[in-house]
Amino acid sequence: MKNIIVIGAGVAGLTAAICCAAKGHRVCVLEQGTTAGGVSTSWERKGFHFEGGIHWLVGSTPGMRRLHRRWKAVGALSENNPIVFKDPVYVYRCGDVELNLWRDLSKVEKEMIDFAPQDSKAIRRFCRDIRLTRAFFCTVRSASDLMRRLVQVPAFIAALPRIISRTSAEYSSMFSNLHLRRLTTSLIDPSQNAISLVYTMACYSIGDNGYPEGGSTRIVRNMLEKALSLGVRIKYRSKVEKVCVEDGKVKGVRCGEEFYDADDVIVATDTAKAVSTMFDKPIAEKWVERLKRFSEPQTCMFLSLGVEDPLEGHHSSLRIFPEESLELAGLKHDCLWTTIYHDKTGYAAEGSSCITVILFGDSYDYWKKAKEDGTYREKKQEVTDAVIAELEKHLPEIKGKIKVTDLATPLTYERYSLTHRGAWMSMWHKGERPMSIPKTCSSIKGLHFAGFRTHLSGGLPVALNSGFKSASGV
Ligand SMILES: Cc1cc2nc3c(=O)[nH]c(=O)nc-3n(C[C@H](O)[C@H](O)[C@H](O)COP(=O)(O)OP(=O)(O)OC[C@H]3O[C@@H](n4cnc5c(N)ncnc54)[C@H](O)[C@@H]3O)c2cc1C
Repeated sequence: MKNIIVIGAGVAGLTAAICCAAKGHRVCVLEQGTTAGGVSTSWERKGFHFEGGIHWLVGSTPGMRRLHRRWKAVGALSENNPIVFKDPVYVYRCGDVELNLWRDLSKVEKEMIDFAPQDSKAIRRFCRDIRLTRAFFCTVRSASDLMRRLVQVPAFIAALPRIISRTSAEYSSMFSNLHLRRLTTSLIDPSQNAISLVYTMACYSIGDNGYPEGGSTRIVRNMLEKALSLGVRIKYRSKVEKVCVEDGKVKGVRCGEEFYDADDVIVATDTAKAVSTMFDKPIAEKWVERLKRFSEPQTCMFLSLGVEDPLEGHHSSLRIFPEESLELAGLKHDCLWTTIYHDKTGYAAEGSSCITVILFGDSYDYWKKAKEDGTYREKKQEVTDAVIAELEKHLPEIKGKIKVTDLATPLTYERYSLTHRGAWMSMWHKGERPMSIPKTCSSIKGLHFAGFRTHLSGGLPVALNSGFKSASGV
């Protein structure tokens, strides 16, 4: 039995802890915050419950068999969080135009061609890219299914350079129709590599990417229960400053006045930050250089609104495009990535609802400066007011009925997760090959890394897989 220290109780850290404990090791998780889950989180304000993490889960169905098995193995998916499947995935709104992004690819193809027949060729190519990607990544169902897919592999390999060499926004520029471009770019952060867009669509189209009821809270609570049942100890308010290394082997970690000795340490925090701050001597391995190239954060501003109106009749996921771009926190925003949680979903009292809006982009420097010159609160109010004014054009029922507002900035994410610039995923640049770090560090025995930074471009599946991978090296 080994003594294992896991740093960080996010989804990656909890996964690593569960896997190590299941192998019979003694595991202690040190978490700087007061709760588990990291950025996969939700919070309460005056009777409203705001989901601030999961919007869809890759591996929520057996269509992504390996991931699904893993979510079940760590207890994240259980009977208490059945999966909800949105269809359409979201509704695009701009002026009088309304378009749906369906799960069924033939429906997507038809709706897009009916709307913009001049783009038929590009639409067919878009759907073909998704079908090829699907054939490559999703669970094989039978021998004949395998044969069919093998035939598609050369076509997928041929299409890959075209996809991977573009950002999601550039890839969508194959459509001449503005609304189709916007419909497709607004699935994920438009600066991410286009493969993330095609992969996400592929997962939707096989019936995956569901939303487990209860969202982040229930997933994390389930994982915590599993960890505790296996004897994992979790210490909150325990910020690790240093991983101590002697003669090329980890000895333990320093956390305030305390020293915890360990045979193995799993660092499940922002890896790009940890390699340069948690060690007396920087880790000089090849993968570290490559990792640092990808430390540009995916982050956002996140606005939560508690509304005394049921907002009936609206789809729960809307992509709202203002007639003119909004200038917010020094960045131009073309899309309000909006989710409505109606009263029936348990997020608000009867007759009320919650709205959350993601505003993608790295506005960290803007907010840092505002903090320094004392205008942080005032500027938060400005952004909140501007977004509400735009929302009211599309959801007029909310006028005068907003009871709670709460804006998180990249500084908020930094404070709660201690990640570099408040990152919660990494930016996968166009033209870059996939990046994944090794499960053990070759220059320091007993040292492992897990977390969203360990594989491009991050997210919950990476947190999960990296937790498994790090534990397999123990
Ligand atoms: C608004 C939003 C929406 C998202 N939507 C989705 C989605 O729909 N699907 C999806 O797959 N992903 C989504 N994500 C991304 C996903 O939530 C994250 O990528 C994932 O949760 C990261 O998990 P992690 O364990 O790697 O890191 P984190 O959650 O950052 O966990 C790291 C933990 O380590 C702790 N820590 C840091 N430093 C120290 C230290 N020195 N000592 C002790 N503890 C420390 C932190 O407090 C934190 O608890 C979303 C994220 C956000 C913010």
